[in-house]
Amino acid sequence: MVNDLVDVGNSLPADLSQRAWAGRAAAGSAGSRNIGRMPIYLDHAATTPLRREAFEAMVPLLTDDFGNPSSVHGYGRRARAALDEAHERLAAGLGAQPREIIFTGGGTEAINLAIKGVAWAGKARGNRLITSAVEHHAVLHSLRHLEKFGFEVIMLPVDRYGRLDPEQLDAALNDRTILVSLMMANNEVGTIQPLADLVRRIRAHRGVLIHLDAVQAAPYLAIDVAELDVDLLALAAHKFEGPKGTGALYVRHGTILLPQMHGGSQERYRRAGTENVAGAVGMAVAYGLARAEQPETAPRLATLRDRLRDALSALPNVELTGHPRRRLPGHLSVIARETDGEALVLNLDLAGIAASTGSACTTGSTEPSHVLTALGYPEEETRGSLRLTLGRTTTEQEIAQAVSIVPETISRLRAATQALALDPLGEQVGA
Ligand code: PLP
Repeated sequence: MVNDLVDVGNSLPADLSQRAWAGRAAAGSAGSRNIGRMPIYLDHAATTPLRREAFEAMVPLLTDDFGNPSSVHGYGRRARAALDEAHERLAAGLGAQPREIIFTGGGTEAINLAIKGVAWAGKARGNRLITSAVEHHAVLHSLRHLEKFGFEVIMLPVDRYGRLDPEQLDAALNDRTILVSLMMANNEVGTIQPLADLVRRIRAHRGVLIHLDAVQAAPYLAIDVAELDVDLLALAAHKFEGPKGTGALYVRHGTILLPQMHGGSQERYRRAGTENVAGAVGMAVAYGLARAEQPETAPRLATLRDRLRDALSALPNVELTGHPRRRLPGHLSVIARETDGEALVLNLDLAGIAASTGSACTTGSTEPSHVLTALGYPEEETRGSLRLTLGRTTTEQEIAQAVSIVPETISRLRAATQALALDPLGEQVGA
């Protein structure tokens, strides 16, 4: 993957490039144990590197064609043309119309706009909002916020794999329901929701809108909004090698949505603020490529992921979390009992592997993962969670290395923990 990282040095003017290299050199000497060797990146669910094609498409819009798309002069017109094309390209990749796409400042903003925009617009019709217990915090916290204003939030439980029970969804739907917000695939355990059945049941209730958080699914699962039959769908560019801080919300034509940003008339009055043209272009290019490459990427990653899974499963007391088959292709998540996930991630980092305990957003928090808790794992077990997520740029050679490093690191950490438990004061050391 290292070779595929954007080589900033070749593409920027000399003075900027020099600063970039100076920054890199400083970072490299700041105590890293991997000088001259980039760690193996197995945290693609947290974010991905910007791909070269997206970066190259963005550069002109950050330099020569820097205009504001609302300006009437040539600079503005060139920026407008690029933004219009980004709408067209992204829409085409989703089976949508260009006007149904709103570019946002990331996945979280797209989700906030979908949920709050639809809830406030639908307040006269009802106040019930339905979701699942394993959603991303962008969904859960938006809903919690709305609860303070009189909306009723129903949070549906999931099974051991993180899947909703369609019967429970049926039971929750009533004539006060405005919206059901679900995720296509889970960020922590990789489980893909059985959407077709869920959507069919929601559609039996007239007037209930469906929002899909497709942030994790987008790089690996084909998305066609008409086929999925959803009204709103949120994406984040940085999960498919687009730029960070850029997202998009698909809003089915005719859906009434109250804007959550007030100001100018950008994005057809639905998202005020000067548009991030370069971000939108980078996102559209990255998505188009990811979508075209899915038939090749997804099975390749599933094969590599399974190698890693088999190596971890060979260890005692390691349990795969999430669905064993209906899961994202590059996603591996486990609970390694008798280990601490945070300590494991630190040790893996020292051993040259970048991994995570679960959601990037909850890392550093002392709270147990709400996803693993919803799947029924007791708190002490959730502490041993480890997530390894592959991406398009992951190589066979990297996985071959990870297959030996990860199990070895888990075993070493367990042995050290046991030794400490038996001899907490180190009295036997050297005896
Ligand atoms: N939804 C899911 C499932 C995610 O995994 C994430 C990010 O990790 C988000 C939403 C938020 O996206 P962003 O980081 O672009 O705000």
